[in-house]
Amino acid sequence: MKFTPRQEEIVDIVKNNEPISGDEIAKKLGLTKSTLRSDFAVLTMTGILDARQKVGYIYSGLAEQSLLAESLSQYLIKDHMIQAITANPDMTVNDAITQLFMYDAGSLYVVDPENNQLAGVVSRKDLLRSIIGQTHNTTLAIIMTRMPNIIVAQPNQSILDAAKLIAQHQIDSLPIVTPNYEILGKLSKSNIVNLLVEICQSEV
Ligand code: ADP
Repeated sequence: MKFTPRQEEIVDIVKNNEPISGDEIAKKLGLTKSTLRSDFAVLTMTGILDARQKVGYIYSGLAEQSLLAESLSQYLIKDHMIQAITANPDMTVNDAITQLFMYDAGSLYVVDPENNQLAGVVSRKDLLRSIIGQTHNTTLAIIMTRMPNIIVAQPNQSILDAAKLIAQHQIDSLPIVTPNYEILGKLSKSNIVNLLVEICQSEV
């Protein structure tokens, strides 16, 4: 989250003077406490500052951020991945769409039947694009994103690694593979969101 320069100034004041009251912060900035009300609300709601009655503001952002980063780097992909829905490169676009609905999935991983290795990824957008082109009988081999352009992860990597890859490459999921590119599972944005909720609930 991006804070305004004034909010960043408040955070610095609290870091260097904690605990410090709202009045004292306002005085340091040469402003009134009521002018800063919305800044205090943003900073406490986002967890950067903690407001303690009769004590004042305390800086808590750094501790929380490193706690989350620490949690996410301890959780392993293998404990959170789900079953991957796989398909043959010869499958038609029509059948692929049926598969997505049947398994409530957002993407299919295409496997080369000759060596059982990951060969491609077909997402919702790929299927929509092929329908616009009116080529329903096209096979997945034609429309898929193919190796070596597929971003994959291994089961012993951390959830933080997976989240970074998903964010960096703007994709919805990662095939989880053996060193030989055989598919073991899938880790999607939804799995990461579910884990975040789990972590937050266990801290409340
Ligand atoms: P959606 O199409 O539902 O938005 P994605 O964002 O995952 O889903 O897919 C966007 C594009 O990225 C598609 O062309 C898809 O083939 C490709 N893609 C999806 N997952 C991967 C991956 N792990 N590595 C490389 N490309 C991928």
